[in-house]
Parts: sequence; C-alpha cells; structure tokens
Amino acid sequence: MRVMEVEILEERADSLRFILRNSFPAFANALRRGMLADVPVMAIEDAIFLENTSVMYDEILAHRLGLVPLKTDLDAYVPREECDCKSELGCAKCTASFVLEAEATDRTITVYSNDLKAATEIVPTSDKIPIVKLAPGQKVKLEAYARLGRGSEHAKWQAASVAAYRYMPKVTLRPENLSNPEDVIKCCPTRVYASDSTRKIFIKNELDCILCNACVEQAVPSDPKKGPPIEIKGDETTFLFHIESTGALPPKRILREAGNILIKKAETMTALVGAEQK
Ligand SMILES: [Zn+2]
Repeated sequence: MRVMEVEILEERADSLRFILRNSFPAFANALRRGMLADVPVMAIEDAIFLENTSVMYDEILAHRLGLVPLKTDLDAYVPREECDCKSELGCAKCTASFVLEAEATDRTITVYSNDLKAATEIVPTSDKIPIVKLAPGQKVKLEAYARLGRGSEHAKWQAASVAAYRYMPKVTLRPENLSNPEDVIKCCPTRVYASDSTRKIFIKNELDCILCNACVEQAVPSDPKKGPPIEIKGDETTFLFHIESTGALPPKRILREAGNILIKKAETMTALVGAEQK
C-alpha cells in the first residue's frame, strides 16, 4: 500500500478541512470516531450547591454547567482515573475548579459562562453562554469541578462538534454531448459548474461536489449513443475531511490526538497477540 498523505485545505481557529490520500474507508472512519469519542477534553463533572433559589433545580443547573465547553490544556492534566490522588473530587493534577456566585437585586439578570470564576487557567471557550436567569431576590452560589473525559462517556466531553468526511469527488464532464448546460448549472446545490463567455459549462469547484448526482439526472445527452454527458464518482482511497472544534482544543490537535490514540490501540493489540504466542 502507498504511504498515506494529508493535505490541509483550510485551517481556522476552530475548524479544519483536509484531504487524506492513499487511505481506505475503515481507517478514515476510525479516525473520525476517534476525534468524536476518544480525544479527552475538560468538562464540569461535579457541582456543589451552597445556595440555589433560582427556578432551576440543582440537577438541571449542573447539567447546563457540564455542557459549557472549556479550553483544555491536555498537557497539564491527567485523567482522574489515572491520577494517584484517588480522591472523589480530584486534586490539582486532575481537576480544575470554579466558583459561581450571582444574585439578582432590583432587576432580572442572566448568569453567563463568564460568571464562572476559574481558579486555574481552564476557562470557558465563550463568555456569553447563558446558564440561568435570576429574578429579583434569587441567588445562586456553587462550586464546580471539571475533569478530563471522553465523548464515548458523555457528549459534554466531545472534543469535535463535527468530524465528517466524504469520498473525493471525480466529475467527468463531456460538454460536447450535453444539450442542457443551463439546467445542469442551476440544479447543482453546491455550484460545482459555471459558464463564461467562451464556455457554456465547465467544472469550477470539483471539491464542492457532494456526490448527490442531481446533475447526472438532469443532464440530457445531445446524442445518447455517445454515452453519458456527466459522470460522478467517489474516490474510495481519498477522503475530504471537515472538523469543527467546540473550542476546547485546536482542530489540528484533535486530529493528532485521534491519530495517537489509534497508534496506542494498535500497540495494545500487538502486545496482546505477542503475549498469546509465548
Ligand atoms: Zn488527582
């Protein structure tokens, strides 16, 4: 098999698009699942309520706190189950703590994620996530503890909000045998085709093709004997990936971690098989 290659198409602070070449569907899917379910990130797991006179039950409020994405420093923390503290609420190596204290006096207020005061450098990815509304006289006072976890355990620990791929599209266009280029240009939902002063139709954005085959169904050949005017194929060795991060980790780090997790799993497997042979 040829060596796999990765080409980054677009990298932003919270999203990544890349092409994976010389691979196969099982590997692409393992990578996708790893990014969604296995890459650890921080999320609030324990909350201790000292006071809560809001309209929300402690449990609902705790659930909402858990869903606030936190900027994660993977190198500074260990998973609690691997930590030597063996403590229920963790220690500084495995746990980041917060306090939240808010009270509405003369008007209704909204408590936002930036009201979570962090004791460490682990902070919410956004300041403007609403947590609860408080009417005059209502008060919330709590402590919250975040730890590393995985998406397979609970969606609040999912590093990637999106990790998806599709086969690399290969569009073959024979304009000389196409009688209705305007219809084809119009029917494509992702605007793969275009026309200009010299050409009635040409392929403008092949990578945007989502293999929906709308153009193939729409295309009417000038001469049916000459074969189809448009053919669409997906290359099963090349994958177009799109990743979006919750903000907890940079998308490239999510990809690297998923790769490392696959390596570890393979090594574990090899060791197990090796031990069997002895
Ligand atoms: Zn610990």
